[in-house]
Amino acid sequence: MKVTVLAPAKINLSLDILGKRPDGYHLVKMLMQSVDLCDIVSVWDTGDGKISLSCNADGVPCEKTNTAWRAAEAFFTFTKKRNPGIGIKIKKRIPVSAGLAGGSTDAAAVLVALNELMNTRLSKEELCDIGEDVGADVPFCIMGATMVATGIGTILTPAPDMPECSILVAKPPVSVSTKEAYALADDRESYWEPHTDDAVEAVCDGELQKIADSLYNDFEELIHLKEVDNIKELMLENGALGACMSGSGPTVFGLFEDQGAAEDCAGLLEKDCEMVTVCRPLDHGCIILD
Ligand code: ATP
Repeated sequence: MKVTVLAPAKINLSLDILGKRPDGYHLVKMLMQSVDLCDIVSVWDTGDGKISLSCNADGVPCEKTNTAWRAAEAFFTFTKKRNPGIGIKIKKRIPVSAGLAGGSTDAAAVLVALNELMNTRLSKEELCDIGEDVGADVPFCIMGATMVATGIGTILTPAPDMPECSILVAKPPVSVSTKEAYALADDRESYWEPHTDDAVEAVCDGELQKIADSLYNDFEELIHLKEVDNIKELMLENGALGACMSGSGPTVFGLFEDQGAAEDCAGLLEKDCEMVTVCRPLDHGCIILD
């Protein structure tokens, strides 16, 4: 039997870093949104008692450091089920190291797939418990839709669905190390005033312009990339209601009321970006495809 899962990327409509725990994990408050830029993850039984993995993208390890592989190991540890041997195939569309939770959503997809394949009937909450040991964004990728994430990002509170819109996503050709980005936050003299409550209020009101006005990401000021500023400026000059960096970057997204304007703007960004796509908000996380 083979189970195939659609694994959506996320964007951060808002991201505040609030502090650091003694164990080194950062405390955050974020408004997270699933978008229909998706990896496709297939999982099947091989009967050889091992885990094997393949992926079509450069820069993704096809061994035990892959988040999908780690999720499979965590699943068998938690359920105490014997691994019958599984194959994992990741068809990547989400750019790697982009701030879009590509690795986390693959891990989430494997948990959802194994729950079906092994007939374990775990609840989504139980899958989230397994997932948080693999990565702080994994629980969100299991639940998906629009959520407020607190603690280290694993405590999720549902927010109303985001209104229909076009989301232009653009990744400039620069790399950001998430570890180094958080180190910059630690160098600050004090933590900044949080912004996420404004974004949550805007989503509760359901007004796209208000959401666009409240987009915020602490990492933007900390990392300060001119490529990010340039993309934001271009989006705002070409019809975006608001634009912001996602996660620890460097991907930028812009919110558009008009799909045509988003597509025209995508055309303007293509030559200077590694990846540009127009997507939509989703009201779900990882789901099994028939
Ligand atoms: P986040 O938004 O959660 O910070 P990200 O989008 O910035 O994540 P990822 O694409 O998840 O970053 O991956 C970052 C690193 O993890 C890369 O160095 C990559 O080699 C490694 N990695 C391990 N497994 C995966 C996977 N399944 N998909 C993508 N990257 C993976």
